[in-house]
Amino acid sequence: MKGFVKEIFTSIQGEGIKVGQRQTFIRFLGCNLSCNYCDTPEAQKMQGSFVYQDETHNNPVAVDFLIGKITEDVVAITGGEPLLQIDFLEELCGKLNKIEKKIYLDTNATLPDELERVIKYVDTVSLDFKIPTATGGPELWNEHEKCLIIASGKEVFVKIIINKNILLHELNKVFDIIEKTDKCIPLLIQPVFGKNIPNILDIQKKALTRLKDVRIIPQIHKYLGVA
Ligand code: SF4
Repeated sequence: MKGFVKEIFTSIQGEGIKVGQRQTFIRFLGCNLSCNYCDTPEAQKMQGSFVYQDETHNNPVAVDFLIGKITEDVVAITGGEPLLQIDFLEELCGKLNKIEKKIYLDTNATLPDELERVIKYVDTVSLDFKIPTATGGPELWNEHEKCLIIASGKEVFVKIIINKNILLHELNKVFDIIEKTDKCIPLLIQPVFGKNIPNILDIQKKALTRLKDVRIIPQIHKYLGVA
């Protein structure tokens, strides 16, 4: 099977609970959202070439072709939104399991039916809960809640990307969903890159009255100037 992929590269994980871990990244093309702060706008459309080191190939590319380019023990599947190409993703994940690679799935947590299909293959799930005051998009709480329930048997964390405009009811909704599922699931607060959020420690403190593990982690790879 073939799918639309922007690139494969090796770097460190720059976000979330695995920050600093060396991983091979597979960046899928295509997204069902268009967040204001998106740092991969070129991956939002299901078009463009596939790039690996100095090579450029036409899309779509085959699962086996991608597998041959993986160098690390952990494979981060990111996008865009990888769950949009669910048949391709399912085959890729199945084959990664067979060669005993660990799978780290980065998703915008809006496609629970598709997540259900691949969750058995995945080791770690990063669920990006979308905050409307930061994304400029709609509320997606129902989809986020369903995805968290599906992922809750795995190593999972919730990430929120925020700016200084975040509203109390948005925070409370995130806390409600996590608390209802399992208040030990980590919540990662990530400021929009380069934005100052003067009350970020107060937000963390408020979250810790409801949840057990709340961390503030900016995008480390951007501060290091790596991919
Ligand atoms: S979900 Fe991710 S890839 Fe899609 S627009 Fe938002 S930030 Fe960009």
